[in-house]
Amino acid sequence: MDDPNRSIQCSVSQCEYHCGDCDYCSLDTVRIGTHESDPTNVKCVDCMSFVAKR
Ligand code: SF4
Repeated sequence: MDDPNRSIQCSVSQCEYHCGDCDYCSLDTVRIGTHESDPTNVKCVDCMSFVAKR
C-alpha cells in the first residue's frame, strides 16, 4: 500500500496513485492543469498526474 500524502485529498480511485482505502494521493506533488482555453468552473480543471490503474 502506498503512503497517503495527507496534503492531497483525492477520490479518484481509478488512478494508479490513489491510496485505495483512504481518499488521498500517494504522490509527493501533483500537477494541476486545464483542458480549456478559459476555465470557468471546477469541471474545467484536471489532475495532470493521473495515470489509469492497470
Ligand atoms: S495523481 Fe491526481 S488523480 Fe491520481 S490519485 Fe493523485 S491527485 Fe488523484
